[in-house]
Amino acid sequence: MKRLIYLATSNSGKLRDFAGAAAVYGIELDALPGFASLPLVEESGVTFDANARLKAEAYSRHAPEQHAIVLADDSGLEVDALGGAPGVASARYAAMATDPGFTANSGDAENNARLLRELATTPEAERTARFVCVIAAARAGQILATFRGEAPGRILTAPRGTRGFGYDPLFYSVRLKKTFAELSPEEKAAVSHRGLALARFLDWSRSI
Ligand code: IMP
Repeated sequence: MKRLIYLATSNSGKLRDFAGAAAVYGIELDALPGFASLPLVEESGVTFDANARLKAEAYSRHAPEQHAIVLADDSGLEVDALGGAPGVASARYAAMATDPGFTANSGDAENNARLLRELATTPEAERTARFVCVIAAARAGQILATFRGEAPGRILTAPRGTRGFGYDPLFYSVRLKKTFAELSPEEKAAVSHRGLALARFLDWSRSI
């Protein structure tokens, strides 16, 4: 039987990244049909793991085939000097400065500006951070497994690079001596939190 794996996302960039990496393993990964018209799952968890599980559990009930596996991911930035913030609030960090209950996403520029403000007095050695991604795999409303990927880095005092998205221009890889916004999509996939979590899922999926 053909293995059906869907990704619960309407983000075509994310789908392209994930599907490209999966194809290397001979695994076909498609967008969950009709995802855009499904009721949005509230990301009410306080961890990446909880949010990825909430989404995978709920969206997997809408797969067109009972035996299909549905993946959902949650990701964000953890900064040590900020006690792990912005964490699960990464997408709405700027708006939360004025309204902690705010649920809509902020623009990347505003989020980066707030991050720089919060770290204005933090010395270089203490600006350690990591990107985290958790992918949850579910079938017919049941979680099968979760997969975590982390990428270590430091937060610069000014942006560098024009590629990527989100906090990439401020996120400096000490090992690569570049920010994530200075990497090609292939270079980023090889070291990123999302690429590592996906590789863990793909290894696991070969055994099922
Ligand atoms: P989500 O997993 O798509 O909800 O991403 C949450 C937020 O975390 C994004 O809006 C970005 O602000 C941030 N983020 C997650 N992954 C990355 C990345 O690879 N680069 C830069 N920012 C990221």
